[in-house]
Amino acid sequence: MNSILQAIIGLEVHAQLTTQSKIFCSCGSEFGAPPNTQVCPVCLGLPGALPVLNRQAVAMAIKMGLATRCQIATTTIFVRKNYFYPDLPKGYQISQYEQPLCRQGLIEFEVGNERKAIAIQRIHLEEDAGKSIHQEDWLPPDQTLIDLNRCGVALLEIVSEPQLRSPQEAVAYLKMLRQMLTYLGICDGNMEQGHLRCDANISLAVVGQAQASSRTEIKNLNSFRGVARALTYEIERQRESIEAGRPVAPATLLWDAQKNIAVPMRSKETSPDYRYFPEPDLVPLQIDVAWCDALRQQLPELPLARRDRLLREYGLPQAVADQLTAEKAVADYFEAVLAQCPRPKLVSNWIIQELLPRIPAQQAIGSVAPAPVDMAEFLNLVIEKQLSRPVAKEIFNQMLRSSDSLQAIYQSFCQAPAVAAADLESIVRELMDQNPEAVRAYLAGKCQLIHFFIGQALAATAGRADPQQVEQIFLANLPETEFSGGREKS
Ligand code: ZN
Ligand code: MN
Repeated sequence: MNSILQAIIGLEVHAQLTTQSKIFCSCGSEFGAPPNTQVCPVCLGLPGALPVLNRQAVAMAIKMGLATRCQIATTTIFVRKNYFYPDLPKGYQISQYEQPLCRQGLIEFEVGNERKAIAIQRIHLEEDAGKSIHQEDWLPPDQTLIDLNRCGVALLEIVSEPQLRSPQEAVAYLKMLRQMLTYLGICDGNMEQGHLRCDANISLAVVGQAQASSRTEIKNLNSFRGVARALTYEIERQRESIEAGRPVAPATLLWDAQKNIAVPMRSKETSPDYRYFPEPDLVPLQIDVAWCDALRQQLPELPLARRDRLLREYGLPQAVADQLTAEKAVADYFEAVLAQCPRPKLVSNWIIQELLPRIPAQQAIGSVAPAPVDMAEFLNLVIEKQLSRPVAKEIFNQMLRSSDSLQAIYQSFCQAPAVAAADLESIVRELMDQNPEAVRAYLAGKCQLIHFFIGQALAATAGRADPQQVEQIFLANLPETEFSGGREKS
């Protein structure tokens, strides 16, 4: 077959909302609580218990709808999606079907340097199911345990139109989605803890023809890498099948991240299998236009717009602007420091090179960074006193460690005795012994390597070495070379 096959990908993303309580009861939804401790008659599905809709969850869903330029329904209903599963005690999930809260939106993102826009089909609210625990090392192989803490946790389901054309596009879309959710403060975006999960549907079509192969669906992808690998795998599998003249059978597949294969789960359900019907215990939800407008006022500047503004206003390189706006808290920090130290390159440089590498994964910049006002004071001192990088770093380190004022730290630093000549001599010689390659390269003509040794010596002496003295010691200790028969020593 010579025709070119094109991948057609749609993503369904489930985002766990950061509401204080679950969507239809007042149980907490904190991750990691002891099993079956965050449950009540409502989320356990006990007979006669009645759901009450969480207003905060609706507000969060509307914010995402507004951020993705969706139409927000004025009336919306909840439905029962019926299916049997051990971790679904009610035997149905309360979800939305025919009248979702948000419809027909758009998400813009970039792949490489190309801007893309993917249509959002719908965004709706639903409840999560519990968790079956099996195949754990500590469990006998034939046993399954049930944790119902997650039952009734508020989820936002975001469904794209099948407009994505490659695994790279799918990952870029998903990254933007995650970034938007975290900017809005409605989901923590933690994929490891399952707070952001993705199902993908995939088919292949001959370029220029509408007719596609049968769609398959891959369930529960929980990392960007998993999405990329699973899609690549499934596109290749369908391509081989089509090229061999075998039609692709509709299927639901489960991605096995250990073996890097997708395995069949069950035959594809179609909508009638779920026997959707309106939830009789919840009245139709009317959305007040004034409330919607108020929520619109609360929207932050969104990631792509903010990235573009940083490029425009401060003339930063794109990679720097991308890093600064990857998280809202970092972008906020950058601009708060900048307000009191208007040097975009210096501020961004210190945040990216010195601050971000010190922030542990999953922690906010505020857990490590000095207050913006203190950071600005420090950077203004660096400018004013023309501090070299090693000296500035030493003062910065002391600032992070101690509660003393910056002035006090700087003064005690200035008053500290200089490094004794004999000490400096042994430090420089040791550096030369440890870096024979650099010494050889210097002798071969790479004179700029002197700055490497000066930098190392400053770092080793907490910035107290005199650079000129370091250079003199370095030159005095260079080995003789065959060609020059000894270098001019200064
Ligand atoms: Zn509950
Ligand atoms: Mn769903």
